Amino acid sequence: MITKATSFLKAEWADARLKLGQVVLFVAAVCISLITISIWGIFNSLEYHLHDKETQMSNLSKTLSTSIAATLTQADTVILGIQGQVEVEGTGAQTLERLGGILKNQQKSLPQVHGFFIYDEHGRCLFNSNGASPLGANNSDRDYFIHHRDHASTEPFIGPSIRSRSTNEWVMTLSRRLNHPDGSFAGVTVATIYLKYFLSLYDGIDMGENGLINLVSSTGHIVVRKPFRDADVGTDISKGEVFALLTPGVDAGTATIKSFIDRAERVISFQRVNGYPLVVIAAFDRNEILADWRSESFASFFISSILLFILSFLGYRLIRLMSQQIQMQKELQRSEESYIQANKALGQLALEDGLTGLPNRRKFDLFISAEVNKARRRPDDIALIMIDVDLFKNYNDCYGHVQGDECLKLVGAIIKKHITREGDLAARYGGEEFAIVLLNTDYVGAFIIAERIRTELEGCSIQHDESPAKVVTVSVGISALSGSRTVTAENLIDIADKALYVAKTSGRNRTVISNHLSDATI
Ligand code: GH3
Ligand code: MG
Ligand code: MG
Repeated sequence: MITKATSFLKAEWADARLKLGQVVLFVAAVCISLITISIWGIFNSLEYHLHDKETQMSNLSKTLSTSIAATLTQADTVILGIQGQVEVEGTGAQTLERLGGILKNQQKSLPQVHGFFIYDEHGRCLFNSNGASPLGANNSDRDYFIHHRDHASTEPFIGPSIRSRSTNEWVMTLSRRLNHPDGSFAGVTVATIYLKYFLSLYDGIDMGENGLINLVSSTGHIVVRKPFRDADVGTDISKGEVFALLTPGVDAGTATIKSFIDRAERVISFQRVNGYPLVVIAAFDRNEILADWRSESFASFFISSILLFILSFLGYRLIRLMSQQIQMQKELQRSEESYIQANKALGQLALEDGLTGLPNRRKFDLFISAEVNKARRRPDDIALIMIDVDLFKNYNDCYGHVQGDECLKLVGAIIKKHITREGDLAARYGGEEFAIVLLNTDYVGAFIIAERIRTELEGCSIQHDESPAKVVTVSVGISALSGSRTVTAENLIDIADKALYVAKTSGRNRTVISNHLSDATI
């Protein structure tokens, strides 16, 4: 019963350990997954932020390029008109007066236009929509004048941004060449456009702290840049990374590059302005994108950490609870085992004599009745030897009780030494009496063993001055049952007892065999 309970406990314990292992694995897998997902999410979000900004910059540069093209086309349409008129009608006073009236009106409806100008082939100002030019004003030194004088092309030209000589305002020049009827150089017509107009187009566009919008000529010179600084106007950035990407045939693109001017790393998008030799560049500082990403990532990292903490804490609690349960089961099993051990020891004690270590009277009684019953059923031989120490009372009186105990131990040890066959039983019957049950043994067999015990003890020569033999001796009575179906254990003991009595009365230190049919003294 107890063994069954122990093996059940062992199975439970093994099962609990298996479950604990699974829970540890599960908690670890969930935690690792959470960490992996968080890291993956954070890096994915970085990609998303950068890509999103690239798309924004690309859309912005496209939109700006369209509105810049529209701004320029409006002014260009006017100077194209001037070019046509002057080339047909020349630059006579009447033509200029008529043109002047029209141009002034058109200027009113074009807020981006600072002025319209006509110069003759020497650079002298023939017409200025802002009023009379200073006396002797000559613009033959301006880039646009030199360009048109030296190039026969009728295409519009955008020169470097300049400060107007008449108003000191920062303006962009958009010019076209005027030809005499024979095709020779007749001068230039110029529309100047406020740089501040372009800056106003950029108003309301959030480019962060360190972003920029740059309008650059196709030769790589800055036309206007937001944020605006006088010193940047005209700066040559043709050696920068953007222009390395602007190869012929490439109209637009995005990249992450270092600024040619301030060395800041930016996500940029560039777009050529359709119909004009200009490029718009919109750029957002990469560090600002990263800062956004960092604050977002920090929030997700924070939430993930809390989740991880809660999960680890709950997992830890669960694992701890399960470990405690296993520990309790272990302890329960241990106490179960020690209980079994104690029970065994108790059982042992209940059936064993403390002094000699031989089975006690109780064990003897149980054993002999069981074996006599079995022997009767078969029927088998069974013999009983009863041993009694001679004059032991005198021994105790003479040598003391302690030495008496030692003497009994020695007698017990001699008996034990001779009863080694499996199935036989030697017991302390009580006091200084011992009893031996021998299975499948007849009178003769029992007598031989009894004599061996008696003679060995005698041979030990334990001094006993109060005994006639002067050494400790024993008297032995033997009974045996051979095929009898009626004899009981009590009969067998009784008969052996009688034989022992005969041994005592006939002089001690001898063995007497007895049965219910006949008695014989040896
Ligand atoms: P007999 O030869 O007729 O058997 O004489 P006896 O003195 O041995 O017989 P009796 O039955 O009168 O005495 C038995 C003695 O055995 C009495 C008791 O003091 C002693 N005795 C019984 N059990 C123990 C024990 O455990 N230890 C010791 N030292 N003595 C014991
Ligand atoms: Mg006795
Ligand atoms: Mg005695």
